[in-house]
Amino acid sequence: MSIVSISNSEPLIRKDDTMRYRPFGKTGLTVSALSFGCMRLSDDQEYNTKLISQAIDLGVNYFETTRYYLGGTCQHRTAPGLVGKIPGVIVSGKEGIGPDQTAYRFRKEIERQLEILGLSHFKFFQVGWFSWGMMQHLLKRGGVLDAIREAQNQGLIQHVGFTGHDTPENFIKCIETGLFDSITVPYNMINRAYEPTIKRAGKLGMGVVAMCPVAGGVLSLESDRLKEALKMDLPTTEMALRFVLANPDVSTACSGMNRVEQLQQNVKTVNEFEPGSCDFGAMCEGLDRLRAALGDRFCTGCRYCIPCAQGVDIPGYMDIYRNWKCFGLDAWATDAVKRVPKDKDAAKCNDCGDCEGKCPNTLDIRKMLKELLSLKKQDPDIS
Ligand code: SF4
Ligand code: SF4
Repeated sequence: MSIVSISNSEPLIRKDDTMRYRPFGKTGLTVSALSFGCMRLSDDQEYNTKLISQAIDLGVNYFETTRYYLGGTCQHRTAPGLVGKIPGVIVSGKEGIGPDQTAYRFRKEIERQLEILGLSHFKFFQVGWFSWGMMQHLLKRGGVLDAIREAQNQGLIQHVGFTGHDTPENFIKCIETGLFDSITVPYNMINRAYEPTIKRAGKLGMGVVAMCPVAGGVLSLESDRLKEALKMDLPTTEMALRFVLANPDVSTACSGMNRVEQLQQNVKTVNEFEPGSCDFGAMCEGLDRLRAALGDRFCTGCRYCIPCAQGVDIPGYMDIYRNWKCFGLDAWATDAVKRVPKDKDAAKCNDCGDCEGKCPNTLDIRKMLKELLSLKKQDPDIS
């Protein structure tokens, strides 16, 4: 790819009548409070093109992509909707890091993603699947940071962020290196693990992209308990977006959208929500009370209980159990139990009790599995 001299001063799209905007950390960029995760685009390309184009028309100016989503087609599905509108939006690309990653390969990947998307440069590029343990591969001579700095010097990348699934504490260490302009992490009402990380990022002036604001659809179902906890009589999806955006350190809530109605509803929710009108601390306290009702004995996801000799996906079931009991998501839990693959089904449990001996939280795993299985019996659709 030839290196082009670019202007980095194009104004981003701003539609104040339909969208709200926030500073993206200290980058000087102003990003739409709702951003578009392109990992759920459909197989209907004409529809994808219209959807992305409509999102931009409604004021969305941040699109999260990588070549690896959707079997390698995510950026191909995204690009046609951007045509003619590229200068006004941020389209972030992403490449992973690992022991074998080199500056040369990372650079080639940046060029490849630019080409697919039809961009002259990335306003944002993410180091993906990052963790504290990967820092050595970032910093080594001939490693990823060399590629990033060179691409920045040549105008192919303006800003750099990271994303991944390390512990909140390790991500704080990554943030404190000062090497990054943004962080992208999952954050929603039922997964607040990265709240301290987000707070630290905000304090240090980093942009924060909150992924999975509706927890991959879990928070699309009605929950009276959540309404009561948040003191809002709204559909769960709306409460979920409001909660994420009520956090003053979140720059944008990145929702993976694939339907026009979903886009329009999310845009409406964000536009109508005045963050100053709600008390984020009180919302957190409400959610904390729901969690506290479970007591200290809930699954922390440590996975010490596996493998189970019968193949039961114990942590997966415990996750369902926690969301079910904590948030009163009965219909969701029933559906989730129904969707557990046969080879991981709790029906195969032979009551050996090995898992309970390994669980540091002394959970009554067998009893909990039986409770979950009883949901099946209550559902006439399930054989
Ligand atoms: S050992 Fe206990 S706390 Fe850890 S994942 Fe298994 S059930 Fe959850
Ligand atoms: S009690 Fe059931 S779930 Fe636990 S290890 Fe034994 S077979 Fe697996």
